[in-house]
Parts: sequence; C-alpha cells; structure tokens
Amino acid sequence: MPSDSALRIVWIYPDLLSTYGDQGNALVLEQRAKRRGIEAEVVHVRSADPVPETGDIYLIGGGEDRPQILAAQRLRRDGGLHRAIARGAAMLAVCAGYQIMGSTFGGEEGQPVDGIGLLDISSSRGPARAVGELVAEVDASLNLPTLTGFENHMGVTALGPGVKPLSRTVVGTGNGNGFEGCFAGHVIGTYLHGPALARNPALADLLLGWAVGETLPPIDDTWSNLLRQERLKAVAPA
Ligand code: GLN
Repeated sequence: MPSDSALRIVWIYPDLLSTYGDQGNALVLEQRAKRRGIEAEVVHVRSADPVPETGDIYLIGGGEDRPQILAAQRLRRDGGLHRAIARGAAMLAVCAGYQIMGSTFGGEEGQPVDGIGLLDISSSRGPARAVGELVAEVDASLNLPTLTGFENHMGVTALGPGVKPLSRTVVGTGNGNGFEGCFAGHVIGTYLHGPALARNPALADLLLGWAVGETLPPIDDTWSNLLRQERLKAVAPA
C-alpha cells in the first residue's frame, strides 16, 4: 500500500492503454523524484478498478481503437480522474489517452465516440496514419527544450479556446494542424511516445514540479541527453 506522504504516480489502465512503452513515463517520474530524495510510488489502476482521487500525477498511454473506446467509457463512469483533476492533480495523457480527454474522438471505423471532456479538444480520423519521429518547439511560457519522440496514430486533434498548444510541430504531424499536444492548468496531452518522459526529462520535471509545488534542482542527465541528441540528429535536415 502506498504510504500517506509519498508522491503518488497513478498509471491508468495498463490493461487497456499501454503501447510503445508509455508505461516508462511512470518509471521516469518515480526515478527522477527518488533521485531528489522525494519518496514516490507508482499505483497501477486496472480498468476494473476505481481510479483513486488522491494521486499527485496521473498518466495514461496510447492504445488501439477498441480498448481506447472502453477506457473512455470506464473513465467517464468512474469519475475518479475528473475529481482528481478538479483538485489540481497533474496529468500527462499520451496519444489514445490524449484523444479521450476531449469531447470526441474517432472510433475503429472513424465514427465519433464520446470522450471524457477533461480537455477542450476534439479528435477525428485524419487523412493518413502519422508514423515517425516528432520534433516540436514548446510554448515559451513553459520554458522547456525541444520535444522529441515518435508518433503512430490516425487521429488528428483540434484545440478549443480552453487549451493552449503544447508546442509547434517541426518534424512530424502531431495534432495535424502545425501544433503538437496541448495543455491546460496542470494537464498535458501529447502524441509523443518514446516514452515521452525518457526522451524529454524536462517535461518530467515540469510535472514533478507542479506536483510538489516547487521547481526541482537539476540532476545528471548525461544519458538522456545522449539519447536526445542522437534522435534529434536522426531527423535533422542534411
Ligand atoms: N487509436 C488512436 C489513433 O490511431 C490512438 C493510437 C495510439 O494511441 N497510438 O489515432
């Protein structure tokens, strides 16, 4: 059982949405907290279980169309995630998990399916599957270095006035309109896999900082920087 004082990282529905190693986001957050002496625990919430309302950071990953529909139905019925976000908890939602945070997304035949309405976005099927590396420049207000990751999705995402674009797409498709991802309050949505937080440790620290209420001191990022440089170089124009 998690102790009362530990930072609680909640990994939502590993049995439905957990493609491309997105679960690594939970490990990265846990490790980066512990390396600063912050006690942290990852709570796995399977789709048959209630989503705890007392988490500090919620994570949800990518997945196939049908499990995505099921996840949206269960999250809506459960309500725990809505209550946690209303309390001010942070969240990183990736790809299928990002799409279901909106009002609607494309199902397995492209049909509109109801999302859970936590972000002012709506997704639908795009003209072609977006597959490959993604590079994007983050909104200046977040003060983060270039985002790197990879994407694999059919959906495109339109942003409403209640969210801001997370970044401007440099390589790849992202939302499909020149932007990649979005944020509102302490909630971030993105198409980035990689896992996103292994490729972008500064994004992990942004979430951790929101959760603990202060900017965290730097730690040695030699290995993640090597990975970032290698991936960014792989898609740089010759
Ligand atoms: N099924 C969604 C799409 O294709 C999400 C895919 C994913 O999570 N990789 O847009």
